[in-house]
Amino acid sequence: MRLLMIHTGGTLLMRPRAGAALSADEVTQDLLGELPVLKQIAQIETQLLYRLDSADMQPEQWVEIARVVHERMEEYDGFVIVHGTDTMAYTASALAFLLPGLDRSVVLTGAQRPLGEVRSDGRANLVDACQVATMRIPEVTVAFSSRLFRGCRVTKMDAWSMNAFGSPSCAPLVELGLGVQIAPHVRKAQPKAPFDPRLEARVLAVRVFPGLDPKLLQGALAAGVRGIVVEAFGAGNVPRLERSLIPVIESARAIDVPVVVVSQCPRGAVDLGAYEGGAAARASGAIGASDMTAEAALTKLMVALGRAEEGRVAAARAAFCADWAGEVTIA
Ligand code: ASP
Repeated sequence: MRLLMIHTGGTLLMRPRAGAALSADEVTQDLLGELPVLKQIAQIETQLLYRLDSADMQPEQWVEIARVVHERMEEYDGFVIVHGTDTMAYTASALAFLLPGLDRSVVLTGAQRPLGEVRSDGRANLVDACQVATMRIPEVTVAFSSRLFRGCRVTKMDAWSMNAFGSPSCAPLVELGLGVQIAPHVRKAQPKAPFDPRLEARVLAVRVFPGLDPKLLQGALAAGVRGIVVEAFGAGNVPRLERSLIPVIESARAIDVPVVVVSQCPRGAVDLGAYEGGAAARASGAIGASDMTAEAALTKLMVALGRAEEGRVAAARAAFCADWAGEVTIA
């Protein structure tokens, strides 16, 4: 078995220095040297792509990571991507949409504490990631805290415990306990698709809150935003009386800017028929994203808009009616 381990940065690779903030500049160079046990799992080659705190990861880097995986697909049995936890859910979602045809594992992993620390979670996460990378789970996934999650379903939920990620609407694909248990909902292998790097990054995610001034969203439309993800209350409800968001949703539709609605609640699905605020948003053109995470909705919108040829709203509507990578439960 041959694996490619792509380094992009993150805490796992950072060297702790007394009294200083963790920095991505000083990374552990030789991961296989520090963790020789990995060599028992597979023949692993490494590629250092970035040394970034994932807060600095940008859509251009998602495309580059996807390109490397796509180009080198046939050379390796699986891929492990070492990445910071802060934006891992965005990268994992973007990669799932940029790499639609997979027949082998693409596993992201990282750590809450650097590998150089006694209590680092990085060792177990790396071992688990490499192990499942050999198992041909044909999805983009996240290996963390003894579980393997579907990448376009995770969200970072904990900045303290080693259990950083949750996947509230999709059970883990693999549980790594005394044995390794693979769940039945792992997706089927797909034939490799041509690589399409197009992506529209001029999108905005807005968390609705009492007092949100719709003029600020009108300002975003005037500034050239191409798509908006509204993180609405509960089942997709938005204000429709005082400071109503309905006129701005209508203005967006008038200039072909899609408005996608996700829920602020980690669990449950958007139902734009449930309350008057959601129904008014839908009547004005808003598109419900069911139980998608905000990270998945935002990255899917970027990819859908990048490929839009016939109009942005139509492209977004088609994208959000479809299940591309297991990111959504379609009723
Ligand atoms: N700031 C770090 C990063 O996302 C946090 C981590 O890796 O856990 O790169």
